[in-house]
Amino acid sequence: MKMIYRKNTKDNQKNSDIQIGIMGGVFDPIHIGHLFTAEEARVKFHLDKVIFVPCLNPTHKRNDHVTAVKHRLEMSYLATDSNSFFEVSKIEINRSGPSYTIDTIKEFRNIYGWDAKFFFITGVDAFLEIETWYKKDELLNICQFVAATRPGYDLNKLHQKFKKVLQIMEIPLLAISSTDIRYRIRNNLSIKYIVLEEVRDYIYQHQLYLRKKVISNIRKQSG
Ligand code: ATP
Ligand code: MG
Repeated sequence: MKMIYRKNTKDNQKNSDIQIGIMGGVFDPIHIGHLFTAEEARVKFHLDKVIFVPCLNPTHKRNDHVTAVKHRLEMSYLATDSNSFFEVSKIEINRSGPSYTIDTIKEFRNIYGWDAKFFFITGVDAFLEIETWYKKDELLNICQFVAATRPGYDLNKLHQKFKKVLQIMEIPLLAISSTDIRYRIRNNLSIKYIVLEEVRDYIYQHQLYLRKKVISNIRKQSG
């Protein structure tokens, strides 16, 4: 088995000129849409690194079960290993409770200093929900946002008032989502080329996403 070096973020990196991209997500699983978006942002915005931050508890409701964080983290390590500009942070995993972006950026600011420049990278779909984000006004004051175009999401809906803090990044549209990958696995369809080989091997080895776990069934069994 290939050895991977776990590039956790270090906590002694104060450097006033540094520009850091933060790519938050559930990463259930991490796919080439995430990786390409992060790499494109790195190049276009001259970022020194992009830190992938798997969340502990998604704050935006998902109806189905979220895979154990140890798997989502391991797949994040596997997927980012070959890019020397990519790192993975356990910052949200080590914090109990909901994974609020504002807390994450503040923690990173304490690590890297208040002169560092942070770019929170999302897809347009995620940014369209900004009004619902916890302490969004404070968040918009302490980092810039980069929103990548994503099929099915309308840029015109992005409010003018965010213009100062938001940069739209037009990328070749990738109609790839973790939801679709989970569906593909359940239905014996291929996921080759839409996740990295290492991630695909990990998914099959650990038999992830084979069946939809319905919460009510779990409740029935335990009750
Ligand atoms: P799910 O279908 O489970 O919601 P997802 O593919 O949207 O999964 P997330 O972990 O929810 O992945 O997303 C993390 C971030 O990556 C979000 O900001 C999302 O908008 C962005 N993202 C995910 N897929 C793409 C894509 N294909 N193109 C651009 N941005 C993407
Ligand atoms: Mg999503």
